[in-house]
Amino acid sequence: MVKRFVSGLLDENTYIVELQDRVFVIDPGEGAENFIVKLVGQRKVTVLLTHAHIDHFCALQRLDYDCVYLHALEKESLLSPEKHLGYYLGLETLSAESDKLCSPDSLPEPWKYIHTPGHTPGSVCYELEDGILFTGDTVFSDSVGRTDLPGGSTIEMQKTLISLKKYFAENPDIRVLPGHGPEAKASKILVSNPFFRGL
Ligand SMILES: [Zn+2]
Ligand SMILES: [Zn+2]
Repeated sequence: MVKRFVSGLLDENTYIVELQDRVFVIDPGEGAENFIVKLVGQRKVTVLLTHAHIDHFCALQRLDYDCVYLHALEKESLLSPEKHLGYYLGLETLSAESDKLCSPDSLPEPWKYIHTPGHTPGSVCYELEDGILFTGDTVFSDSVGRTDLPGGSTIEMQKTLISLKKYFAENPDIRVLPGHGPEAKASKILVSNPFFRGL
């Protein structure tokens, strides 16, 4: 049900989820538009952004979308090349249609989200009802997101990891699909990810 595309920019993972008649795209990275068209044709998509770093929304302006879900604390970064880091990669002109930004509070069923600040102030993880968690740059299979970029916070990340540790312990079979690198089961992350072992 979930398809993955690995983009050329920083090996970012884009995920495509078809649910009934809707197509959801999580973090459309560079080149994802061609993959999406091959997969679902010229259909309108709904975009879920885990946070507003350029590697996670490079393809946004080349998609036909009805809505972009993004935490309110990320909106400023979306439009700031210095904050979304595009400035450092020569990608200054990308932008999003601000009238199509939606709060994750209004996500349709069967989506939920968890606010997981640390990598950025408004980082979120998106949960799909049947046991999948898209973690963006908050948690990778054997590491966690960096906290030294604009808006990052080691203190917030620590709090986030403590609450995710509890969540993973309660949901050991959940598939964790990160923004970079391979997926892993929650139970495996608790054992093999050094950032969780030390908590
Ligand atoms: Zn990031
Ligand atoms: Zn990233």
